[in-house]
Amino acid sequence: MSDIWVFSTYRNSTFNKVSYEMIASSRKLATSLGGSTASIVFDSIVHEADLVPLAYYGADDVLILEDPSLSPYTTDAYANALTALAEKYKPLAIFFANDAVGLDMAPVVAQNIGAPLLTDVMDMTVEGTKLLLSREAYSGKIVQEFALDPGRHPLIATIRAGALEAAQCDETRPVHVTRTQIEDFGTIRQVVKDVVRKTSARVDLTEARCVVGGGRGIRGEAGVKLIEDLADVLGAAVGGSRAAIDEGWIEGQYQIGQTGKSIAPDLYIACGISGTIQHMSGASAAKCIVAINKDEEADIFKVADYGIVADLFTAIPLLIEELRLQN
Ligand SMILES: Cc1cc2nc3c(=O)[nH]c(=O)nc-3n(C[C@H](O)[C@H](O)[C@H](O)COP(=O)(O)OP(=O)(O)OC[C@H]3O[C@@H](n4cnc5c(N)ncnc54)[C@H](O)[C@@H]3O)c2cc1C
Repeated sequence: MSDIWVFSTYRNSTFNKVSYEMIASSRKLATSLGGSTASIVFDSIVHEADLVPLAYYGADDVLILEDPSLSPYTTDAYANALTALAEKYKPLAIFFANDAVGLDMAPVVAQNIGAPLLTDVMDMTVEGTKLLLSREAYSGKIVQEFALDPGRHPLIATIRAGALEAAQCDETRPVHVTRTQIEDFGTIRQVVKDVVRKTSARVDLTEARCVVGGGRGIRGEAGVKLIEDLADVLGAAVGGSRAAIDEGWIEGQYQIGQTGKSIAPDLYIACGISGTIQHMSGASAAKCIVAINKDEEADIFKVADYGIVADLFTAIPLLIEELRLQN
């Protein structure tokens, strides 16, 4: 079995973008180390046709575990199953998305197999025989780099969505699917009584290529409507600073920053956000930051690629109008 594993979350017959980003980097690592990479897919029913993109985007193998205990998700069933597979096949590393499932499972599996765990990793390479992984620390003030000997311990890491590049789709790549079983899922202590899914037509914040963020400067309902309108013309996700969340204008799950989500879009438009370190630590991986703020001294202008010094209630309608004309 392959040396570097990517745990690929399977939902509604698809995989999230970060799965493909992790596969591309894992494949580069595996190739440098003379090995191969596998996507690991768990569910009660897995359709093999859904797995083809994993191979086209770089997975050498796809390992499926299909069992009724795997739907709905529970920490124990998933972590116990992955622990059993890791003990059986002994991969050098297992990567998860730095999302709710990854952050739930990865520490348990790491504890079970005695592996070091790194969360919110933003880059990974191989230097000689060492795996080099890096991530931000102290609210983005420093970058920590870890050099690990992949032969010594299995390594577990969660990877920030958008931080790595997915490969080009190559439809000539072979698709190798292996079905596996485990003898015992162990005690499953969680009982899921109901799953309530919130539906939103918007792109997921952590996966979005464009994000519009609102801060205290949006002032309330009218400001929220403005940033949503801007997001709609751009096909963007909407996020907010903690001030906007604390005011109840934007839901908590959309908070960007140190105690919220980390985003890595191509474009982040920060509206009425001052640019505190706690907010920017979640947005520093954005490729281009545009700030709209009426205070020309606001800290956000120190990190923004483009700045608009203006009242957002004047600037955003003009932007929307112009974008609609372009569209
Ligand atoms: C431990 C800890 C963790 C934290 N975690 C987070 C986190 O994860 N995410 C986060 O965001 N914050 C976090 N914070 C809070 C953070 O320190 C700031 O308080 C918060 O980010 C400020 O939000 P803001 O920029 O929207 O508000 P403010 O700092 O009040 O800035 C509002 C900005 O809007 C501008 N403005 C006002 N009106 C207009 C207008 N009409 N047009 C244009 N501009 C206008 C103002 O000039 C100002 O720059 C954390 C704090 C702590 C202590």
